[in-house]
Amino acid sequence: MRATSIIVIDVLIAGGGPAGMMAGLLFSRAGVRTLVLEKHRDFLRDFRGDTVHPSTLAIFDELGLAQKLLALPHDEVRVLHARIGKRSLALARFDELPTPYPFIALMPQWDLLDFVAAEARAYPAFALRMECEATELIFEHDRVAGVRTKDGEEIRSRLVIAADGRTSVLRRAANLPLEDLAAPIDVMWFRVPKERTKENETGGTIGRGTFLALIDRGDYWQCAFVLAKGTADRVRARGLDSFRAQIARAAPQLVHLDAISSWNDVKLLSVSLDRLKTWSRPGFLAIGDAAHAMSPVGGVGINLAIQDAVATANLLAEPLMRGDLAIDELLPQLQDRRMFPTRAVQSVQRAIHRFVLDPVLGSDTEITEAPLPFRVLDRIALLQRIPAALVGIGVRPEHIRSPRAGESV
Ligand SMILES: Cc1cc2nc3c(=O)[nH]c(=O)nc-3n(C[C@H](O)[C@H](O)[C@H](O)COP(=O)(O)OP(=O)(O)OC[C@H]3O[C@@H](n4cnc5c(N)ncnc54)[C@H](O)[C@@H]3O)c2cc1C
Repeated sequence: MRATSIIVIDVLIAGGGPAGMMAGLLFSRAGVRTLVLEKHRDFLRDFRGDTVHPSTLAIFDELGLAQKLLALPHDEVRVLHARIGKRSLALARFDELPTPYPFIALMPQWDLLDFVAAEARAYPAFALRMECEATELIFEHDRVAGVRTKDGEEIRSRLVIAADGRTSVLRRAANLPLEDLAAPIDVMWFRVPKERTKENETGGTIGRGTFLALIDRGDYWQCAFVLAKGTADRVRARGLDSFRAQIARAAPQLVHLDAISSWNDVKLLSVSLDRLKTWSRPGFLAIGDAAHAMSPVGGVGINLAIQDAVATANLLAEPLMRGDLAIDELLPQLQDRRMFPTRAVQSVQRAIHRFVLDPVLGSDTEITEAPLPFRVLDRIALLQRIPAALVGIGVRPEHIRSPRAGESV
């Protein structure tokens, strides 16, 4: 155990996910002394979504970094399809959205996080500690004054930001009230090799009792098999052959299912859907999944987390840079701004759980015909802009208003 040392900085961010890294980049860009703690050794981890949406690309564009980011290997989704029976239906068309990069860029999340970390390191105010886990909050007269790490180190800061994800230790330590929205699904993830196609074929497939999201990553499919919460043991008990057969029936385009050679190739990820009723207390703020855990439905959690980070820096970077003492009074404004988009997205996710996923997962009949709304969308291309705007741009998109050190706002 490391000896207790006391380090004093302006902003301590616990968690180097999309929310924490983007907040780290923006605060240090403004000249605010920022330390990000990430408990893992690197950004490689179980699949948690590879989607960079048009709204996030617009933010990188505002930072002058979009071209550099897009120089990294990635795929582009311009139209999202659903496959039902033998038909493929176009549901969301991104390429006509009024935004500088009208597509979803697919790139491994660790590439995105490595990129943000490299950009942030260019600012002298930025520091990142890997393999450093925040375990406790330090309180002073009921105000959060820093964190204690697993190594016993004390880090004092003017503000602690919990960006430690949906199992956030810090939000629990801050004793903030949580509303659990009871996600009814879990997800099994696996990869299946494929041939490269000219167009990206990312989309969803519905079959008897089966919903599969298929992310086209060029030479493999990243597959999400959706199951009712808590039923993974039942799926496994039916055996791997039965699992592969169920997938083959729903998604005949997956021809290399023999790549799933054991259950070790199939990762179970538990889905949460919740939100804090109060996102802050003096000296402390929760953002991203730590404030509102998102379902994978729509693949928007990363983008919402990044939007939170942008809004946080817009609100606080300048006062912190000026050394304002009254930042506690500003903290509730972040929730005022971001609760509405959070509620809106979670309401749509709950509706999709209830009206699309539940009926499919609970059904034993073959689904041969697409639901009416899908058929209407497929037929009227103009309407495909609506789901594209909801997913790709979202509700109340944020823009960079936090300053760069040396610039006035
Ligand atoms: C199965 C699944 C699939 C998903 N697919 C998609 C998708 O395709 N697209 C999409 O946009 N969203 C997707 N999501 C949602 C998305 O993953 C989250 O909404 C998003 O990652 C939230 O970002 P975050 O930075 O708030 O938290 P996280 O990404 O969870 O990052 C938190 C970070 O904090 C670190 N950490 C945790 N505790 C501590 C601690 N005590 N001290 C220091 N570090 C700590 C963690 O190691 C992690 O790096 C998916 C979610 C699930 C569960």
